[in-house]
Amino acid sequence: MNKVLIINTGGTFGMVQGAAGLAPAPDLEMRLREQLPELAHYAFDLVDLLPLIDSSDLRLNDWSRICETILTEQDHYSGFVVIHGTDTLAYTAAALSFALRGLSQPVVVTGSQYPLGVEVSDAPTNLLDSLSYLVQPDIGGVRVSFGGLNLQANRVRKMDAQDYVAFEMPNGEVSSINEAAQPEVLTYQEGAVATILIYPGIPAAVIEGVLNDDRLRAIVLLSFGSGNIPTTSSDFGAALKRAHEQGVLLVNMTQCLKGRVIQGAYETGALLAELGALPGFDMTPEAVFAKLHYLFAKGADKKAVEAQWHQPLCGEFRCQ
Ligand code: ASP
Repeated sequence: MNKVLIINTGGTFGMVQGAAGLAPAPDLEMRLREQLPELAHYAFDLVDLLPLIDSSDLRLNDWSRICETILTEQDHYSGFVVIHGTDTLAYTAAALSFALRGLSQPVVVTGSQYPLGVEVSDAPTNLLDSLSYLVQPDIGGVRVSFGGLNLQANRVRKMDAQDYVAFEMPNGEVSSINEAAQPEVLTYQEGAVATILIYPGIPAAVIEGVLNDDRLRAIVLLSFGSGNIPTTSSDFGAALKRAHEQGVLLVNMTQCLKGRVIQGAYETGALLAELGALPGFDMTPEAVFAKLHYLFAKGADKKAVEAQWHQPLCGEFRCQ
């Protein structure tokens, strides 16, 4: 069997111009078969995950639906392509890398910056690259194929809003040990993880705002440099202490594109170390977000997350 299932979730790839801008549209399979004669070289089926969305409207349940489709169909296909909008592609790619650990078939996530049918569109190349990778996947696991690059799903970030090479791995690829794991469909709790960008003068109110949501279990702080936050210049630190006292897990991630968190290198990072914040290592913010959701969905409580945090699950950070 050498047949691939293409799962279309929406995104620019299959969109057409609507009254208020580009919007998801039906009949992608028909349009693809008409416009891309090269597809005759590949055996594939295409399924639309309805309703097709602009990925800015992604809900965490969409991760579950993608996994469910793959796991239901895994005996019938040699590989899977997930067509996804680029805006939240990095989140979904990371989420799939965790939930689908142990899957024997390779999965490629792709999309495009310009819709199929437009002269400059990158949709044909990105799809053909994904399919040709699946003929001979040399790495396995979940990958992102985009702009001529084949990338590790949980290390990618959307780096360019318009360029064909939209995704890169700012901290590089990490080879992962393929641990025995069971791929699964999980139920994610939306609102359990909040990501906050630290900025000069950030007030306590920003933390208090997310603490008001009783679904909250973890805050990912996109800190300055190697893991620093304002400590003496505002009431921000006091709010973090309150979050900690309420049992909320804190994760210290750098907002720098490259490099890693070295917690406690500066006095301005000491408070986070004192509050037991977990370091984000050199992960992407998207991978941290997806990993926390994955661990919570697996039933881990704060202690259990802390206990497993320092061990990568599938190459999401580089150990030092
Ligand atoms: N807004 C679109 C989406 O994420 C952008 C894209 O696909 O490139 O669905």
